[in-house]
Amino acid sequence: MLKDLQEEILRLKKSRHAAVLAHSYQSAEILEVADLTGDSFALSVKARELEADTLILCGVRFMAETLKLLCPEKKVLLPVPEATCPMAEQIQPERVRDFREAHPDYKIVAYINTTAALKAECDVCVTSSSALKIVASLPEKNILFIPDKNLGAYVQARLPEKNIILWEGCCPVHNAVSEEEIQAAKVAHPNAKVLLHPELPAEVVRHGDMVGSTAEILHYAQNTTEDCIIGTEKSIADYLSLTRPSQQFHLLSKKLICPDMRITGLRDLLRTLEGQGGEEIQMDPGFAKSALRPIEEMIRLG
Ligand code: SF4
Repeated sequence: MLKDLQEEILRLKKSRHAAVLAHSYQSAEILEVADLTGDSFALSVKARELEADTLILCGVRFMAETLKLLCPEKKVLLPVPEATCPMAEQIQPERVRDFREAHPDYKIVAYINTTAALKAECDVCVTSSSALKIVASLPEKNILFIPDKNLGAYVQARLPEKNIILWEGCCPVHNAVSEEEIQAAKVAHPNAKVLLHPELPAEVVRHGDMVGSTAEILHYAQNTTEDCIIGTEKSIADYLSLTRPSQQFHLLSKKLICPDMRITGLRDLLRTLEGQGGEEIQMDPGFAKSALRPIEEMIRLG
């Protein structure tokens, strides 16, 4: 049954001249039919080289928006319109506009996990792997970092020369992990390397042997023979366990499951390819220009 669905998806992809992009947090059966897999920003950049006219993004809305910003000439479809990232939508753009009016000397830095409407209000975007380098390279001392207080705190702790104001936003999935859980995991698996995402709270992150983006965690785990404690979404630990059976990968916490990333299934993807489901991401060209500006600035500085 699963194989039948996958075969039909592969057939339709070809006949519709469509490509499927799947975030690394998607299920194994979606990753198997994808043309590209990876972090949200890496997917959007690589997608520019695809010949397909239609791009189907299996992930959440802000990722589909970023894809549309970077590939405006292509049709971008999100199979499940309800798949959103709670962190990306935590701030009303007006509040950032108000901050800028009150603090004209601040540079506004936005994590890529934000809506296009928020990006349009910011000066530069960052990813979890480029945040430190980009903030360090800014000539301005005063920085507002939105929306993730944990990634912001990670940068703040390493750049004491900057005056960084953090927004009270967070990824509810990563932020739910406690220091007691990392301490317990280290006691249970004393020889395992601890690989942590900077969206985790600071009191957890300080226990990491390595702190990095999803791609950096995957890269580290794939280039060691040691067992690892994985401090990011469960799908990464599952994928590593499947592909590297000679090592053990221990999920740091049972809470590390993102419901929004789990919404999209093979049937949703199939319906989208059949033209019976999904949502096309539409963007006014003037607005798209404003939202693309901080992404281009990130590419220039990164
Ligand atoms: S894991 Fe967190 S940041 Fe990623 S999509 Fe889910 S809620 Fe958003």
